[in-house]
Amino acid sequence: MATIIDGKSIAQEIREDIKTEVSALLSKHQTPPGLAVVLVGADPASTVYVRNKHKGCEEVGIRSFEYKLPEDTDEAKLLLLVEELNNNPEVNGILVQLPLPKHIDSEKIIHAINPEKDVDGFHPINTGKIMIGDDDCFYPCTPFGIQELISRYEDNLKGKHLVVVGRSNIVGKPIANMMVQKNEKANCIVTICHTAAPDISYYTKQADILVVAAGYPNTVTGDMVKEGAIVIDVGVNRAPHPEIEGKTKLVGDVNFAEVSVKAKAITPVPGGVGPMTITMLLKNTVKAYNLQNK
Ligand code: NAP
Repeated sequence: MATIIDGKSIAQEIREDIKTEVSALLSKHQTPPGLAVVLVGADPASTVYVRNKHKGCEEVGIRSFEYKLPEDTDEAKLLLLVEELNNNPEVNGILVQLPLPKHIDSEKIIHAINPEKDVDGFHPINTGKIMIGDDDCFYPCTPFGIQELISRYEDNLKGKHLVVVGRSNIVGKPIANMMVQKNEKANCIVTICHTAAPDISYYTKQADILVVAAGYPNTVTGDMVKEGAIVIDVGVNRAPHPEIEGKTKLVGDVNFAEVSVKAKAITPVPGGVGPMTITMLLKNTVKAYNLQNK
């Protein structure tokens, strides 16, 4: 039976470290690190994420600036706010909650954020730096959390075959680019597979470390995994509850019951990758503060 990689307690440990670092910084500087979070509209899931980001900031001593704009905010107004935040020295990190309403060009907004404040790690400058292995950048929070979980569980990553299912710009591509770099938290042989593969099990069966970010339950079943693999399930899906009729439950992209009897270690859903994401955002905000106060 696989060891459960407990993202919740690892995230808590990291938050304790961030809290200690922030209080040490406060004894040297006048102002704490600051994170601006911009929410346009009232999408229920986004509202919860923004609330949790605010709570996370409070927990570790980061000052959070919240901007809640109406759904019909126009692009020009949002660009003006981003510009204002770029120029505000108390704001070290800027996060514009995605998805944005359809009438706003998300790419244009992301590109307008100063890359030195892009703590979500989506600006092409940061994407490019990840690709060339320049650590002076911000890693997108979910892949950053995934790397942290993997490297805390497996300390000898050199030459391990890491297979990623999914090629999104948010998870699949960045985690692949991060894990192929030549450093002690990476140095893997990396394969990415996606829907163009006639049979993804050809790849998944070869994985020493399997990262699944497809967005569908049961994308990876027991027969698709090598005995002793480390399995990171990024998926978050609502599926019918197996025991309570009419109810749903959160499940990942991996069939946990089948894969956990073959894997050496596995992340649960919920409680695996999920809790790491906001924690890594807090870590990025402190990194931004340190870079801006060098
Ligand atoms: P996405 O943008 O929809 O991308 C999914 C990727 O998976 C695509 O590249 C797609 O291939 C590939 N794919 C889908 N089904 C496949 C299959 N059967 N075989 C092979 N490849 C397949 O999704 P995402 O944003 O990366 O998110 C993936 C999952 O992670 C979602 O469940 C999401 O909710 C979750 N997530 C969780 C967190 C967290 O904090 N825990 C953060 C982000 C995302 P094509 O490119 O060929 O279409």
